[in-house]
Amino acid sequence: MEASTNELPGNAGQANWSNWHWQMKNSVTTLEQLARWIHVTHAERDAIESVRGKYLWRITPYYASLMDPEDADCPVRLQSVPSAAEMLIYPGAGIDPVSDASYRKTNRVIHKYPDRVVFLVTSMCPVYCRHCTRKYHTTDVAGTYFGESEGVSMEPDFDYLASHAEIRDVLLTGGDPLSYNDRKLEEIVSRLRMIPHIEIIRIGSRCPVVLPMRITEELCRMLDKYQPIWFQTHFNHPKEITKEASAACDRLLRHGIPVQNQSVLLKGVNDSVEIMRALVTGLLRIRVRPYYLYHCDNVTGVSHFMTTLEKGLEVIDGLFGHTTGFAVPDYIITTDLGKIPAGRSYVRRLDDGCEIRNYLGQTEIIQNL
Ligand SMILES: *Cc1c(COP(=O)(O)O)cnc(C)c1O
Ligand code: SF4
Repeated sequence: MEASTNELPGNAGQANWSNWHWQMKNSVTTLEQLARWIHVTHAERDAIESVRGKYLWRITPYYASLMDPEDADCPVRLQSVPSAAEMLIYPGAGIDPVSDASYRKTNRVIHKYPDRVVFLVTSMCPVYCRHCTRKYHTTDVAGTYFGESEGVSMEPDFDYLASHAEIRDVLLTGGDPLSYNDRKLEEIVSRLRMIPHIEIIRIGSRCPVVLPMRITEELCRMLDKYQPIWFQTHFNHPKEITKEASAACDRLLRHGIPVQNQSVLLKGVNDSVEIMRALVTGLLRIRVRPYYLYHCDNVTGVSHFMTTLEKGLEVIDGLFGHTTGFAVPDYIITTDLGKIPAGRSYVRRLDDGCEIRNYLGQTEIIQNL
């Protein structure tokens, strides 16, 4: 469904529609507002009721406009409208299955890998993805990322980065760091740039997908002053590759900011070769490089999106060799030991040489390898 402005609350008009502040202010947070975009099913109605007081939900008008009004299995709906399954606790589920908390060095810095860190900017997001791996921190009303409050001084965090010369890569994330306005973001980015050993700054944001009007010329120009900057975003379904999303990525790219994509393999959303092939080839058309495909972790409130490892391997096998090499993301299981590449091996060691297998399943023995 095309975004038709006459359906918007108060007839937004194009100027409002393309203003990210308007999108944030007019976010869908009630059943009544949601019903302006879709025919809400009984199950969705009940789910909205049952997550009340437990999990936040919020959808930008832009992202709501991508929903299929009649199909409750629409991938955009599944990712953004609450589901009753979020309240089920699956065996083994946890709020932090990858133990990020134990690597937290300051209020905002998670230092798990030798040369790079996660810097938590905010717990806010324009759309609260139902499958968020940090669901407790972003969406659970009881949860927060921050040991101390979000508003507390960042000086101890900057001090930590400045005093650890091994850190050459800082990933701004959260939550969605682009929830902050340009001025607050520039305060952070410019401070990071004052630390000589920080070589690259990365911004992890879903805005190109859920709030593409956030990627303004002004934002891109500001970031361009602090190069090298890399951007990573989170498209999960070809339906999300719209004209607006494409234009947002194009603005970043034209300012010299490479854009990479991290998807999560989600049951019912993108767990098929056909959908993933359309996604990754669609991303190449907008010059966004598929980076990671994450296996969905057993996160409390997210478990119903989990697929099997075999499904993930089937998806990767259906991409590799069948399409452009750099369209194929690395398939990753995230664990307390870190990210684990889960792709299959195409080479098998034999006593004398190796057996190799190509993407069509044809095998051959190579001696002396
Ligand atoms: C994923 C992650 C990173 C970045 O890892 P890359 O593989 O370099 O993208 C850094 N720190 C933490 C804690 C992470 O989870
Ligand atoms: S935008 Fe990212 S951090 Fe925010 S809810 Fe979605 S997946 Fe989680």
